[in-house]
Amino acid sequence: MDLSLLRSVYAPKDFKAKGRETIDLISAHLYNNLSEISKTVIPWKNPEEAHTFWEEFLKNGDINTFQKLVLEQSTSIHHPKYIGHQVAPTAPITIVSGMLSAFLNNGMAIYEMGMVANPIERIITDLLCAKIGYDTAASGFLTSGGTLANLTALLAARAAKAPTDIWNNGNTIQLGVMVSEEAHYCIERAVKIMGLGEKGIIKIPSTSTFQLDTSLLQEYYDNALADGIIPFAIVGSAPCTATGMFDDLEVIGSFAKKNDIWFHADGAHGGAAIFSPTYVHTLKGIEKADTVIIDGHKMMMMPGITTAILFKNNNNSYSTFSQKADYLLDQSNDQDWYNSGKRTFECTKNMMCLHWFTLLKTYGEQVFDDFVTCLYNKGKEFAQMILDEDHFELAVQPMSNIVCFRYIEKGLSPQQLDELNQAIRQQILEDGNFYIVQTKLKGTHYLRVTIMNPFTTKEHLKELVALVKQKAGLLNN
Ligand SMILES: *Cc1c(COP(=O)(O)O)cnc(C)c1O
Repeated sequence: MDLSLLRSVYAPKDFKAKGRETIDLISAHLYNNLSEISKTVIPWKNPEEAHTFWEEFLKNGDINTFQKLVLEQSTSIHHPKYIGHQVAPTAPITIVSGMLSAFLNNGMAIYEMGMVANPIERIITDLLCAKIGYDTAASGFLTSGGTLANLTALLAARAAKAPTDIWNNGNTIQLGVMVSEEAHYCIERAVKIMGLGEKGIIKIPSTSTFQLDTSLLQEYYDNALADGIIPFAIVGSAPCTATGMFDDLEVIGSFAKKNDIWFHADGAHGGAAIFSPTYVHTLKGIEKADTVIIDGHKMMMMPGITTAILFKNNNNSYSTFSQKADYLLDQSNDQDWYNSGKRTFECTKNMMCLHWFTLLKTYGEQVFDDFVTCLYNKGKEFAQMILDEDHFELAVQPMSNIVCFRYIEKGLSPQQLDELNQAIRQQILEDGNFYIVQTKLKGTHYLRVTIMNPFTTKEHLKELVALVKQKAGLLNN
């Protein structure tokens, strides 16, 4: 058989040339975005138009222009006017760790296939545990995203707290998970994946500041029991995704302890504040949680996806998936931390720990403090700016870098205001010079920003306010 095609696939020289060219392109793109030489944050195209473009490219496009086109036609998260979803502008050094992981493909499930990554992962997760305030019984691992980490935590919770062995015998009783109505949708999804159905998600109403109303906890717990549902876990959001508001982890922790249920803290966004002396207070009580998750790709400058799941008692991390896989995993109950597949949902997994380790070793813990503290400060600044404006209103005084606000005008009905704010956001999206998002809170439409770039200044934010006003004026006439 002719191997010439495959030889060209693996030719080191071609890789070197392509690799260098790509790094040059990325560096130029980074520069153009940070310096705002590039004015476009999102080159909006409707989905059908984009589909046609790439279909045509596959037929007739020049592969040598592909990387440039991908850069040009994607949303530029490194642009200071990207103030939308809570994804980090990646620290460029982590692009390099991503390359190492992609090349090595050391899947980590067993030690031999992760002789670097497994020990590094332990070092990283032990550090995070210490920062949370856990003692030495704690440890954890990294997994592919907050959604999967929350599911894994709830599976561990069920293994620890359910009265029967559901993992082996199936759902023979109705279990339930208590969570704020404002929690990320992936909690409900996890509960349904676990086969607990609609009854399995016990939604606690939130207060006027969108935080879990802890005064209702005992009542909802008792009512669930009376309805034949056994609550085995409660989730606290740190913070909730839509509003960036933190649940009271201290009170939730006491409630969980009193009723002997699992306490899981979803710190996907805000868990990184364990590094910020200024904002660690937002996480008060987090050390009471049986499990905590923290996304590296949100407030820690890493590429997606990498999430730490941390166990107060590491023993619990070994009982989540007690399954036989003879060809791969030793069946013993040994706590062999270096065979990570025993504890993770994934079999093959990226060497995501390289991002954490590289940032830590290159810049020190300070860099995580600087990032979180700077961005949360900017959230406060922007909120003050909104308060100082006539035609604007905050949904709530923010506790993080997520701010929800809306344009208001006397004489317009609630429905007209919703429609106006929706139209403002659509125009800003299609113009593409700023990227902001939107959300519905207790039935009202809000514009939503997450300030993710340390180089987004007060001037940028003032410009955004002016743009919203201008769009509102045009739309109203
Ligand atoms: C983003 C987020 C998630 C989901 O995490 P992914 O890494 O996107 O899967 C879960 N919970 C909260 C609170 C979040 O902010």
